Parts: sequence; structure tokens; C-alpha cells
Amino acid sequence: MVKYNAYQEMLDVLDDAAEKLGLELSDYTALRHPERELKVAVPVEMDDGTLRVFSGYRVQHSSSRGPCKGGIRFHPGVNIDEVKALAAWMTWKCAVVNIPYGGAKGGIEVEPSELSARELSRLTRRYTAAILPLLGPERDIPAPDINTDARIMGWIMDTYSMFKGYSVPSVVTGKPLEIGGSLGRKEATGRGVSIVADEIAFRAGISMQKARIAVQGFGNVGGTVARIFYEKGYKIVALSDKDSALYNEKGLNIDEIFAYVEVNKTLKGYIGKGVQEITNEELLTLDVDILVPAAIENQITKEIADKVKAKIIVEGANGPTTTEADKILNEKNIIIVPDILANAGGVVVSYFEWVQNLQAIFWDEHEVNTMLKRIMIRSFDEVYDISKSKGFSMRLSAYMVALNRVVMAKKIRGIFP
Ligand code: GLU
Repeated sequence: MVKYNAYQEMLDVLDDAAEKLGLELSDYTALRHPERELKVAVPVEMDDGTLRVFSGYRVQHSSSRGPCKGGIRFHPGVNIDEVKALAAWMTWKCAVVNIPYGGAKGGIEVEPSELSARELSRLTRRYTAAILPLLGPERDIPAPDINTDARIMGWIMDTYSMFKGYSVPSVVTGKPLEIGGSLGRKEATGRGVSIVADEIAFRAGISMQKARIAVQGFGNVGGTVARIFYEKGYKIVALSDKDSALYNEKGLNIDEIFAYVEVNKTLKGYIGKGVQEITNEELLTLDVDILVPAAIENQITKEIADKVKAKIIVEGANGPTTTEADKILNEKNIIIVPDILANAGGVVVSYFEWVQNLQAIFWDEHEVNTMLKRIMIRSFDEVYDISKSKGFSMRLSAYMVALNRVVMAKKIRGIFP
């Protein structure tokens, strides 16, 4: 079996989209290579006085349509190919929703739950210092991703600002509200996922009020999706985190689960009426109407795809479905709203946050959510229409929209020198 390589997965879809657009290799070959890749060693003095050195990365895939934009991930599985893929996916994501950014991503190979708050702060600040030449509101703007949050973005903002000698809120998004964060940013990715889920279910003739829904992942994305669905009265029959997966055919009590996780920090051990523990694979292959993979990449593999029974998949995570699995799901006529469209809500509100910072004004939450909904539905319609009229999958259609925009920008700008 060929080892999973996230960047190769990205290239496969890209080449396919380029072919369908009738592009020559020379039209887009530059986009097969990230513009910049930086690997840094991040030494951290641990609380017990020992020194540990972590590997960190920041990759800028494309700056053709604007400053590079993308999150920073703290995870033991972080590696250069993953960061490269995630950076490229950001380029396509920003292009598909038509916000004026290119794509970037960063990460540190670390299990952050093993670090104290002080160690985490030192790690974040030293990493920020190491990638500092790449950053800037006009250059490259980080944001949260897996295992990073507003508090960490605050440390990044502070570190960058200390080097500059003045406060630069617009260098990072997903910050705490007190230092220039935006209302609605934390929930934005999940909210965007829920908006496109409603749209696709409507198009497919599925009633969300009656649908059986499974959500993989209980981080910022999965947790928010579950909460929004639950508030709307939808039935979530299955939910998981990295430790456990829960199933209740009558629907899970999401409020109760949030209260449990607040105290226990894990789904493991939760006992609710009618709830049974299932495996991660069982969750992905349940007989449901809607499946929302909202954990991490490489989850719906070829082996899983054969067994998937969901009618619709809405990708909350980046890259949850492998290319091989994608083919199988397409053959099975399972509709997939692809990651670069489905989870773009986060970066859309990051864009709003950056705009607010640059103008030194604040929008209210209603304004943020209204604009988010408008952009998500506009982008969804555009992709859906191509998919319907040309008979391509929504993934291929989304890549075609995105690639066309980036290629046009490159063409207009021309090659330097
Ligand atoms: N990490 C998020 C993503 O994968 C958000 C990126 C951003 O807001 O810049 O889309």
C-alpha cells in the first residue's frame, strides 16, 4: 500500500480540475509548488528545567490573490507534507469563496495536552519569533487550527507586536475579543458547515428535521456543528472525539454531552440514557442521512468508503476523504460538499476580523453572521450549479472555480521578472 501523502492527494485533485478546465500544464504548474517552505527548530525550556526541541513549519502556498492566510496546528502528526497540503487547501478555499487571500499553513509537531500553560506560551512565542520574517498583515496572517485557540492567537499577536514595537492586531485572526478578535469567529467554521448542510439537504430533498446525522470530531468545528444542529432540533445520532464515539438512535442530548466534556475533557465515560459506545469506523459507516467528518484528514479511506452508507457527506475537516475513497463515494452517488467549500466559514470570518482590524472598527455579531451566510450561500450556489450543469462532483467543481480564479490572477500579474 502506498503511504498516505496529503500533498500528493491535493495534487491529484488539482491535476484533475486543471484537465477539466482545459488548462495546459504551463498555465498552473507553478501552483503545484508552494512558494515558500520554512522549517524551524523550536527550543523550549520546560517547567522542570530540561530543554526540549520541537519541529515547527510555516508554508506559504500562494500569494497570487492576496496575503497568505491559514491556521497553525499543534499536533503530534504534523509533518511537512501535511502542512504543504493544508497550505494549498487554504489557497483553494480562499479562492472558492472569493476572499482576497492566498494560502498558508503552519504547525508544530507536539502533543499540547502534555504541556503546561507556561510551556505552551513559551513554545508559541519562540515559534512565532522563528517564523516572524514571513508574517505580517500584508504578508501572512495565521489563525487557529487543531489544538490552537484564541489564547494562543493572543500570544502570537503579542510576540509579533513586541518585535515591531507597537500593537498589530491584524497580523493574526481568531484572537480574543479584548485585543481585536471578531464576534462570531469562534463559531464561524461550524456555522458555515451548518449553512451548507442545510443547503445541500434541501437540494437533495432531505428534511433536516427528520434526518439522522453523525458528526466525527468534537473540537471547535464538530462541537459547534453539533450544538447548532441540536439548537435547530436536528437529530444527531452519533458523535465522537479522539477517545470515544457515542451512538443513540433516538438522538444524543448535546447539552448534556457538553456539560460532561466541560468537566471530564473527553467523551470517554459518558453514560446517557439509550447511549452506546461504538468505534470510530462504526460512526463513519452508520446508516445516516448526513455524515460530517470534522476531525482530521485521512479518515474516510478506501476501506471505509466501501462501507459508507450516508447519503450526504459535509466535510468539516480539511482533507478527511482520500482521493481513492472519493472515487468510490462518487460511484456510490454519495453527495460530498468538499472541505474547501464546506469549512470555509472560519477563514471568511477571519477575513472579516482582519478587515475590522485594518479599519479599527467593530461589527456586531448579526452583521458578521449575515455576511458569512451570504458568502457561504453564494459560493455554494456557484459550485452546485457547475456540478449540476456539467455533471462533475462538487469537489471537482469547487476546485475548478478556485483554480480558475488563481490562474486568472497569476496570468494578469504575469511572471516576475
Ligand atoms: N484553520 C482554519 C482553516 O483550516 C482557519 C484558517 C483561517 O481562518 O485563516 O480553514
